[in-house]
Amino acid sequence: MPSECLFCRIAGGAVPADIVEQDDVAVAFRDINPAAPTHVLVIPRRHVASAAELGEGDGELLGRIVAMANRVAASEGIAEGGYRLVTNMGDDGGQSVRHLHVHV
Ligand code: 5GP
Ligand code: ZN
Repeated sequence: MPSECLFCRIAGGAVPADIVEQDDVAVAFRDINPAAPTHVLVIPRRHVASAAELGEGDGELLGRIVAMANRVAASEGIAEGGYRLVTNMGDDGGQSVRHLHVHV
């Protein structure tokens, strides 16, 4: 449920996070347990459990998330050297938080 969802609560400001960028659609914040020198998560404000729920009608949402991830890479100074965008789906995909997030 969104009211119990950690990342919904971060997007709504109920749980603090180190926010890098946000707009009306998405929020980017630093991963609490970084796996790389730069490790930011980009999430939609709208609750979506994972990318497995997205379809052809979600192109704008995905575009906004990827565009924010790319801006974060630029503002973090890693755009030129290269970076990865990763999203995990479900138990076997290594997803621990059930709100869509793209790792930068
Ligand atoms: P997943 O394993 O679902 O792909 O990634 C979840 C990520 O969320 C992990 O890298 C984990 O460190 C991060 N994370 C979990 N809880 C919190 C939190 O409360 N705040 C922040 N900023 N990151 C979190
Ligand atoms: Zn959520």
